Amino acid sequence: MVLVYAEATNGQFKKMAHEVVVYGKKTADVLGTECHALVLGDASGAEDLGRFGASKVHQLKSPNLEKFDAAVYTVAVAEAAKKLGATVIVLSHNSTGKSICGRLAARLEAGSVPGANAIPMMKDGFFTVRKPVFSGKAFADVQLLTDVKIISVAGNSIPVEELGQGGTTVEALDITLPEPRTKVVKHQVATGRVPLPEAELVVSGGRGLKGPENWGVVEDLAEALGATTACSRPVADSDWRPHHEHVGQTGVAIRPNLYIAAGISGAIQHLAGVNNSKTIVVINKDADAPFFKAADYGVVGDLFEVLPRLTEAVKKY
Ligand code: FAD
Repeated sequence: MVLVYAEATNGQFKKMAHEVVVYGKKTADVLGTECHALVLGDASGAEDLGRFGASKVHQLKSPNLEKFDAAVYTVAVAEAAKKLGATVIVLSHNSTGKSICGRLAARLEAGSVPGANAIPMMKDGFFTVRKPVFSGKAFADVQLLTDVKIISVAGNSIPVEELGQGGTTVEALDITLPEPRTKVVKHQVATGRVPLPEAELVVSGGRGLKGPENWGVVEDLAEALGATTACSRPVADSDWRPHHEHVGQTGVAIRPNLYIAAGISGAIQHLAGVNNSKTIVVINKDADAPFFKAADYGVVGDLFEVLPRLTEAVKKY
C-alpha cells in the first residue's frame, strides 16, 4: 500500500497536499496497490482526499502534534506506516517533508528519493523514481531497492486531478507519540500570499531594483496578478528582502506557471532555481543579460517604466 502524508496547514489542505495524494494514487496504480492518506492532527475536509485518489484516510490526533516537531512527526508517520503495512511513503518536498524525509528513511531503514518530479515507473524490473540533479540540468533515475521506499515530491511537479470520489471514510489511528523536545516560541506568518514552492505566479526582483525602498513596483504587479514575490540572492543577503524569498541554487527552487524577473541578470545559480518555470518573462535594461537566453518573453527596458505599465495593463483585465 502507498501511504501519503497529506499535510494540513492550520487545519486546511493546500494544493500541495492534493498533489501528493494524486502522486500517491498514480504510484499505487504502477504497483497495482491502494493509496491511503495519512492526516496528522485536526483538519477539515479529510474525507475529501478521496477525490484525489485516496481510498482510505487515516487520522492521528494528539496534543503532541499541535506544533510541528520533526522528531514527533517522524515517529507519527513511521509508526502509521508500520501499523498499516505501507511499502511506499509519499510526502511533499516542502519544509515539513524535507525535515522528516531523511529521519524517516533512517528510522525505517528505507531508501528515499527527496524532490522527485515524476511518477515512479517500473524499469528493468526495479521501482525507479526520477529527480532533477545538478541544479536541474539533468535527471537521475533512482532505483529504490529497500522493502519500504520514501519519496518526497517537488511542488507543481504534477497537475492536481480528480481521480476518485469524495466522502472517503476517515479512520482514527491510535499511536502513542513522544513529547516534543522543542518548543515553538513564536510563529510568524511571513506573508499572506501563497508560499513560494506552491506559487503558480511569481514576480521577482534583483539588484536592478537598486534598494528596498523601490520594491513597490514589484509588490504592485504581484498584487494585481495575485502572485507571490521573490528575489535574487544578493537582494536577500543585503536585507532588502527576507531570506525566504530568495530563489535559486541556494534558495527555494520553484516551478510556477509564470515567473517574471525584473532587474535580475540571470546568473547560472539563479537559473538553477527557476528554470523549471513554465513561462519566463525577463525585464532587463541590458539586452545582453544572460537571462534573456532562458526567457520565453523578454522586454529590454527600464524596469521602473515597464513594471508600472504591466501592472496597469493587468488591472484593466
Ligand atoms: P546583478 O548581477 O547585479 O544584476 C542586476 C541586473 O539588473 C543586471 O542584469 C542589470 O542589467 C539589471 N538592471 C539594472 N538596473 C535596471 C533597470 N533599471 N531596469 C532593468 N534592469 C536593470 N543568486 C541567486 O539569485 N540565487 C541563488 O540561489 C544563488 N546561489 C549562489 C550560490 C553560489 C555558490 C554563488 C557563488 C552565487 C550564487 N548566487 C545566487 C549569486 C549569483 O551568482 C548572482 O551573483 C546573482 O544571482 C546576481 O543577482 P542579480 O541578478 O539580482 O544582480
